[in-house]
Parts: sequence; structure tokens; C-alpha cells
Amino acid sequence: MHQPSARIRTRFHEVASSTVAVNSEACYRAGQFDHESWQAVADAGVWRLAVPRHFGGADGTWWDFVAAFEGIASGGRDLGFNLSMVAQAGLIRSLLKHGSETQIDRFLPRLMSGAVGATALTETRGGSDVAGTTTTARRDGDGYVLSGTKDHITHGPIADIALVLGRVPEVGSRDITLFLVDTSTPGVRHGEVEDMLGNRTSPTGPLHLDHVQLDRHGVFAGVGRGLEIIYDTISLDRLLYGVAAAAFLEPVLEESMDHAERRTAFKQPIAEHQYVQGRLTDIRFGIETTRWTSYAALEAVLAQRPEASMLCSIAKYQGSEQLVAGTENAIRLLGHLGYMTGPASRRFLDGLGTIIAGGTSEMQRKNVFNQMVALRRAGQAAGERAA
Ligand SMILES: Cc1cc2nc3c(=O)[nH]c(=O)nc-3n(C[C@H](O)[C@H](O)[C@H](O)COP(=O)(O)OP(=O)(O)OC[C@H]3O[C@@H](n4cnc5c(N)ncnc54)[C@H](O)[C@@H]3O)c2cc1C
Repeated sequence: MHQPSARIRTRFHEVASSTVAVNSEACYRAGQFDHESWQAVADAGVWRLAVPRHFGGADGTWWDFVAAFEGIASGGRDLGFNLSMVAQAGLIRSLLKHGSETQIDRFLPRLMSGAVGATALTETRGGSDVAGTTTTARRDGDGYVLSGTKDHITHGPIADIALVLGRVPEVGSRDITLFLVDTSTPGVRHGEVEDMLGNRTSPTGPLHLDHVQLDRHGVFAGVGRGLEIIYDTISLDRLLYGVAAAAFLEPVLEESMDHAERRTAFKQPIAEHQYVQGRLTDIRFGIETTRWTSYAALEAVLAQRPEASMLCSIAKYQGSEQLVAGTENAIRLLGHLGYMTGPASRRFLDGLGTIIAGGTSEMQRKNVFNQMVALRRAGQAAGERAA
């Protein structure tokens, strides 16, 4: 199996250790996005890594991005920053894969240089059932006028560019469509940052669209293709949750091991007690199963294999559930110290957000089951054809 470059991982680990990790606590307390570190990782070239040279990129692959992302997750130690990066990465890949030349020219250079992107699906009426979107566009000349409100959107309060899911009712039943919106367009209004339990460095909130006039390049990948394209877009997002979870948990495990070797109870280090060892090994199981599932998912996505969607959902499910379990284990190992307001409890609260963001764990299970059925039917059909 292909593996991410250790050289790129180390480089970005260093960048994030001297920026994200340094600003993290102050930004968290203020509930603010860390613009300075965002710019630093952009300047270090993170968004160019997977972009072809003719678009101004470094001509690498998404494996290079994954290496950098692992470095930033383990060096920056700020899950909110990682959620922000997931949102941006999905948008960039989608733009490269499905965007028109004009859209790429308009938005890719800005995103690579540090402009902030958002993918806006969720609405107040719910997020799991994305096809129920009530954001609506009507045709106006050769463009569209888009109206609606998106809720709980990563970067909703600050995004420069947003990929927005809506519908074009006049085309009939296959009307769900994506729109690419420059948020400086009149009619776009950023909402207030939501007061969340965690991930407070990743501003999440509404994006209001009130009769936003879009030219013909505002439609992304064609009218009626919204669901197909968005599922493809979020497939990368999903596996990146797994990548971030495994990399984020590595230093948590290191610290937990150090603590277990130093702290004594019953005249020996607590690391000698089998139940304590069990918690430490559980974190390790979580890291390894998540990491390798995420790598398998990336390989399947890049090779466009039929099981890609299923593996991405498994990586997302595994990553977010292991983040919760791993950070909870770290709290338990610290005893009362873990229950104090501080880094350990913050990590747990940040981790909790990942079982909801990017599609809940229940929705990942649902997708896995649907894909299992689809793959089984495809296998049966292939068997019948061969017989
Ligand atoms: C930190 C954070 C960042 C986010 N960023 C974004 C973003 O950038 N863009 C965006 O569009 N959204 C974003 N969201 C919103 C997120 O995608 C939604 O919250 C999520 O999809 C769930 O939607 P909901 O909250 O409306 O819950 P609901 O859809 O109302 O679901 C409520 C409960 O019912 C369960 N449920 C619903 N349907 C089923 C079913 N068929 N089978 C089993 N269980 C079901 C759900 O799993 C959940 O437990 C973010 C959320 C968080 C917490």
C-alpha cells in the first residue's frame, strides 16, 4: 500500500508546532479562528500539494496532502483547526475534479493562497437528509438567483468562498444542484459564530443567501448533479476525519504512556496495572485501525474503486468514534486531573463534535450498509453474467 511521505509530514509538523500549537489555547478561549496559522500553513504550500503544476500547484498527489495533514494534526494539536482543513480540502479537490476552467481560474488561486472555503449543505430543518434542502435558485437570464439559509456550517461566519447545495425547482424532479458562491456577492450574509461545546477555533454558523445573483458560472458541475457531486466531495472529507483522528491521537497516547509510567499507585507505576494497560492498548488499536482504514479509503478513492464510498464512511466512523474513545481513555488515565477544565477535557469535547460533523455516525453506518448491499448486488450480477 502507498504511504504518505515522512519528509512532508515532518515539515508540516514543524510548521504547525510553531504556529497552530502556539496560538491554539488563546484562540480557543476567544472562540476565534486562527487566521495567522491558517495563512502560515497556506504559505508553506499545504493547499498546493495535490494541485497539478499547470494550475499553480506542487504537482503532487492527495497522499502528499495527507502527509502534511498528519503533520499538522499531530504538531498543531488543535482538532478545530483540522476540521477547518477538512472543509477546505474537500472544496479544493471538488473544484479540481468537477469545476469548469472559469471556476478553477476564479477560485483555486485564492483557496491555495489562504482564502477560506466552506461547503454548505445543512439547514435548520436538518443535516442528515441533505436532499431535503430548501435553498432555491431560479433562472435569471443566463444566470441564477439563489436564496436560502444554511446552518451549522464550518466557516459559515467567515468563509470567502462557499459551495452551496440547493435546488432549481423549475427543472423538475432531478433538481438538486451545487452553486459556487463568492461570499462578497451582494445578498450573502455571514451569521454569528455558534457557541459550541468544542472545536471553538473552527467558526461554525449560518450563511444567509438573500437573492444572490450568480452568473452562469455559479452553477457547479451542472444543474441536477448536486447529490452525485456532493457525495463525491464528502468522500475525501470523510477519510480525512480518519487521518486527522489517528495523527491527533498519537501525541495523546505518548502523554498517556508518560503519565502511566510516572504516576504510582499501590507502590508501582500505574502502567503496571493490567486495566491501565488495556486503556493504553485501546488507544493504540484505535490509532492503527483508523489510520490503515483511512489509507485504504484514499487508495480506493484515487483508483475510483467501487468500495471507495464504503471505506470512506468506515474511516469517518472509525476516526470519530476512536477520537471520542481515545480522548475519554486519556481523561480516565489522568484521574481527577483529566476531569479538570484543560487540554484533556477540551480534546474530548472537540472529539465529540466529529461524531456529528461530516455526517453522524448513524449516517455512516447507513451508508456502509447501503454500499454493502450495492456491492453484493453488483457481485451477484457479475456472477450471473459469467455463468
Ligand atoms: C463541528 C461541526 C461542523 C459542521 N460543519 C458543517 C459544514 O461545514 N457543512 C454542513 O453542511 N454541515 C456542517 N455541520 C452540520 C452537520 O453536518 C449536521 O449537524 C449533521 O449532518 C447532522 O444533522 P442534524 O444536526 O440536523 O441532525 P439530524 O439530521 O436532525 O439528526 C438527528 C439525529 O437523528 C439521527 N438520524 C437522522 N436520520 C437518520 C437515519 N436515517 N438513520 C439513523 N439515524 C438517523 C442522526 O444520526 C442524529 O443522531 C457541522 C456540524 C458540526 C457539529
